[in-house]
Amino acid sequence: MGYAELHRRSIEDPEGFWGELAAELHWYKPWDKVLDDSKAPFYRWFVGGETNMCYNAVDRHALGPRRGQAALIWESPEVGQSRTLTYFELYREVNRLAGVFHSLGVRKGDRVIIYMPMVPEAIFSMLACARLGAIHSVVFGGFSITSLASRIDDAEPVLIVTADAGMRKGMPVPLKEIVDRSIEAADSDSVRDVLVLDRGLVPIEMKKGRDLDWAEQLEKRGMRYIEPTPVQSTDPLYILYTSGTTGKPKGVVRDTGGYMVALHASMSHIYDCGDGDVYWSTSDIGWVVGHSYIVYAPLLKGVPTVVYEGRPDHPDPGVWWRVIEKYGVTHVFTAPTALRALRKFPDQWMKNADISSMRILYAAGEPLDAPTYEWAKNTLGVPVIDHYWQTESGWSMLTNPVGVEQMPVKPGSPSVAAFGHNLEIVDTDGNSIPRGEKGFLIEHGPLPPGMLMTLWNDDDRYLKSYWEHFKGKTVYMSGDYAIQDEDGYYWMLGRADEVLNVSGHRLGTREIEEVISSHPAVAEAAVIGVRHELKGEGVLVLAVLKQHIAAADRDSISRGLTQLVRENIGPIATPDAIHFVSMLPKTRSGKIMRRVMRAVYQGDNIGDLSTIEDDATVDMVREAVDLLKGDL
Ligand code: AMP
Repeated sequence: MGYAELHRRSIEDPEGFWGELAAELHWYKPWDKVLDDSKAPFYRWFVGGETNMCYNAVDRHALGPRRGQAALIWESPEVGQSRTLTYFELYREVNRLAGVFHSLGVRKGDRVIIYMPMVPEAIFSMLACARLGAIHSVVFGGFSITSLASRIDDAEPVLIVTADAGMRKGMPVPLKEIVDRSIEAADSDSVRDVLVLDRGLVPIEMKKGRDLDWAEQLEKRGMRYIEPTPVQSTDPLYILYTSGTTGKPKGVVRDTGGYMVALHASMSHIYDCGDGDVYWSTSDIGWVVGHSYIVYAPLLKGVPTVVYEGRPDHPDPGVWWRVIEKYGVTHVFTAPTALRALRKFPDQWMKNADISSMRILYAAGEPLDAPTYEWAKNTLGVPVIDHYWQTESGWSMLTNPVGVEQMPVKPGSPSVAAFGHNLEIVDTDGNSIPRGEKGFLIEHGPLPPGMLMTLWNDDDRYLKSYWEHFKGKTVYMSGDYAIQDEDGYYWMLGRADEVLNVSGHRLGTREIEEVISSHPAVAEAAVIGVRHELKGEGVLVLAVLKQHIAAADRDSISRGLTQLVRENIGPIATPDAIHFVSMLPKTRSGKIMRRVMRAVYQGDNIGDLSTIEDDATVDMVREAVDLLKGDL
């Protein structure tokens, strides 16, 4: 069956299509109904079915023919260590840790925050939660106090799992200390225990009655088998926070059964990956790509997955190519930012390693620009596949469906709608528009398995954020501008909301603005995403200082603001430039004119001033432009 037929079937007969794919996995109890759309747009898949993600990802292989095969390959240039676990060894480790979690009282439906570096124990923790039916919420180790505290308040975890430190370019990041300060900063007092993996990287202080040493706990509980807890297909597997347009992150809730079926199917249909292959997603488990393609999808498929602690260019720019050679990696999934970073260095770094095992390279997270695409394709000599997805989708919405039919690549386009996704480009009223015209990318229900169920504890925000964008039309709003061309290929044109995409990761302008505005010298601030050669978008801060602040203090304020952002949100949000301006231009309704500011800063042709901000007069916009040109 070719792509067109497969896609048509997935849309016309979703129950038949997904029901067949689900039968390839293990269910304690079969579902009563493949799709329940009675409460749309809250779609529920495999209703009545009972399963367990950990059983499917680990036990199924460990107790079968893949028992002695590599499951998890850990490589850390940061600490100069590596470790390979077979499926059976992974099974033992996950059971041991699930035993510890269980003895700490973690039960089905409880939340566990995982704030860990990229070490095998982080993946054991995710799988141990899944085994017990507990809901994990992994927080990216690069996020800091405010980000972690707001997630503690929202998810109300009973347990936080962490380590003394992560490593970034040889420098320790003191995760345990950040956990201590975040628990203090949070309002919630839900946290009973903090389990700490001591890697011996930095000294730690353990709080009596709350903090527990990982190795001691494992020792104390010993080895024991923990029966996987059967959960409903519709029970949440995890909450993963992402940025929205307000200061409060959105807790994307993922189900168990639908996600499992979609990921398993994606390995063959999208990635063309199976026995004999080695999969490496260079992401971090703190992001959705890490959840899906470092952990769950490769393990569900019984394929070895590489877990990498480090960067593409440290200790030198040959490190990734050596990892590919060392483990015979066949599939690499990375972000355009990383490719742009590697492209700066001589190709010789790549040629020094034998990367002939590599069959294909995938990219996602931000637009893959044509020059980077051409460089990767020509120097690596393998197909380079761009695909588009979001934290909300859990797997790709647009892709070149290589496993079904490799379609011609158009550099700069993530190709066509993935199976199960019924996409369209619409205008501001939600009406269909002709091909070749720019509009919003939307999706018609039913959303396929694996897409978000709701936002944690906030069904209303789920409806408002995604489904109520167009009056009278209940369609899923992706938040992105796009064009569909004559051949049905999509071209992504960036976010339609005030969300930044830095190195392929979403950051909310409001989150950063709130931190900047908390500085005692700042009266008001605006944060804008501006073009950045390596990161796709960089963070530009425009701040209005309080009246009494002397011009001479600006340098130290600027340094203070940078520090504040790094400490509260994390290094990923570090401002690329901070400018002090006399005022922030606003529309009549008081909205900051971000698009004007971006255009002025980037030196773009401002074009038709009347359409650049919906809610401002041409004169207002003209004044804003003049003012900013003077200030900047
Ligand atoms: P996140 O939820 O952090 O993964 O960010 C998702 C957003 O990243 C999407 O809404 C897009 O704006 C952008 N994005 C992801 N993949 C691509 C891609 N292949 N091409 C263009 N933009 C992308």
